[in-house]
Amino acid sequence: MQLPPFVNEPYTDFTLPENVPAMQAALAAVRAEFGAEYDLMVAGEFRQSAEKVVSVNPSAPSEIVGVHQKGSEKDADDAVDAAYRYFPTWSKVPVENRALMLVRMAEIIRARKFEFDAWLVLESGKTWAEAEADVSEAVDFCEYYARQALKLAHPEPMVQLSGERDEFVYLPLGVGIIIPPWNFPLAILLGMSVAALVTGNTVVIKPSTETPTIAWKAAELMLEAGVPAEAFSLLNGGGPEVGEALVKNPKARFISFTGSRNVGLRINELAAKTPPGQRWIKRVVAEMGGKDAIIVDSEADLDQAVMGVLYSAFGFQGQKCSACSRAIVDQSVYDEFLAKLKTQAESLTIGQSDAVQNYMGPVISAAARDKILAYIEVGKGEGKLITGGDKAAGDGFFIKPTIFADVNPKARIFQEEIFGPVLAVAKANDFDEALHFANDSEYGLTGAVFSKNKQKVERARREFFVGNLYINRKCTGAMVGAHPFGGFNMSGTDSKAGGPDYLLQFVQGKSIAEKLN
Ligand code: NAD
Repeated sequence: MQLPPFVNEPYTDFTLPENVPAMQAALAAVRAEFGAEYDLMVAGEFRQSAEKVVSVNPSAPSEIVGVHQKGSEKDADDAVDAAYRYFPTWSKVPVENRALMLVRMAEIIRARKFEFDAWLVLESGKTWAEAEADVSEAVDFCEYYARQALKLAHPEPMVQLSGERDEFVYLPLGVGIIIPPWNFPLAILLGMSVAALVTGNTVVIKPSTETPTIAWKAAELMLEAGVPAEAFSLLNGGGPEVGEALVKNPKARFISFTGSRNVGLRINELAAKTPPGQRWIKRVVAEMGGKDAIIVDSEADLDQAVMGVLYSAFGFQGQKCSACSRAIVDQSVYDEFLAKLKTQAESLTIGQSDAVQNYMGPVISAAARDKILAYIEVGKGEGKLITGGDKAAGDGFFIKPTIFADVNPKARIFQEEIFGPVLAVAKANDFDEALHFANDSEYGLTGAVFSKNKQKVERARREFFVGNLYINRKCTGAMVGAHPFGGFNMSGTDSKAGGPDYLLQFVQGKSIAEKLN
């Protein structure tokens, strides 16, 4: 079976007036579903719990988006057992059938794109454009991994020894535990899940408690596309207890995690223990945080650099693992850069993310807002506040875009992931020092360099130690197929989602040599 070559899903342009009414209608339709109750899905069995978890609209927290069950450790054990039982069946389904299910998922999302966009706007606080990018990426992951799975099923022929037939095949691993974050609630959840499923594994998905309704919509989509209910479970509403029970389960074969550094390290540690009866070393794929830097060189196009930093720092309120939270600016252009950046940041519109004109919406929760505001207080003692530094008006979890200048590269706000609209700016004497500051981090996810000097760009290619380097452009917005995504050091295991090697993490190679007569 051959699929047409992969192309990225085009974005709907919401600056065109003709696209606005359709999105407004989708928002109204989704709002009409607000407050509905959703069950847990344990291998096709719908379950309720006494305790409920409520998800709210971060732009207007009095609005309840969905009411969810609170998954328990018993649900976790049952889900892993069910996945373990079904694995032998699912692993034998021809890869072509599984790949076609992913293509079907992509078709369904495309047909109902505004509806998915609207759920993201209202449950995760993404603006229209950010929601559209997330939903389009979900389409891309389905289409891309469908093609990669077909490739993996037909590996390069082996060297044929005389008198032998030599083969190499990939087998699925078993039961996978999928633990995604809330910040790409459709793309990352679906990408992680379908990558494991298409390669023949069964999965238990434990979504973030912040975005359970979107997770439910993703699970519904998988069922509609033909994935058997027994091949996966959806354990919404379960926090660390459920997550840890899943990770520790001896029948779990691998864990695919995306989230913060601390949770990733905890999972890695738990997964390394071998409970009685476990017959394998669990594989951990962990994509974690970032403290991503943009270097603005003396020979940069300054306007381009300002816009690159602005978008990378404040798009989706800085809540991307790839967000620019450190700008390192050459002393010769430092004052001019800061003045321009301040003007641009102060022109950004902020408010409810369902209003098309807003460039920034809310942060995800009251807890996130309080944590970010606490970091801003730390920042006031570590740098010079240039703009922002406080909540923005409205009932939602709004924070003004905040910039600190003259920050010491060893300062906490220059080293720790804040995950909000807070940018720390440091001055560098020259390009050498700028590179040194950029690499002086335990993270290594994304980075960018703005410079017209070819030698400096060449040095950055070799010496800027990040998994995703961008030159003369923003450091967010990795595209499936073009920018395989994943970071170094404490940013994770460098799994390179959306790249040609990603699926290899969910299979094991088997070599077969047959003696011929
Ligand atoms: P988080 O680490 O708080 O949570 C991630 C997931 O882990 C959630 O589903 C959560 O419920 C679960 N979890 C929490 N504690 C657990 C435990 N003890 N055992 C098992 N599971 C547990 O992260 P978040 O706030 O959802 O997401 C933001 C973080 O994710 C940021 O650090 C960001 O940089 C990172 N991120 C990384 C990438 C990447 O590709 N590297 C992409 C997106 C987000």
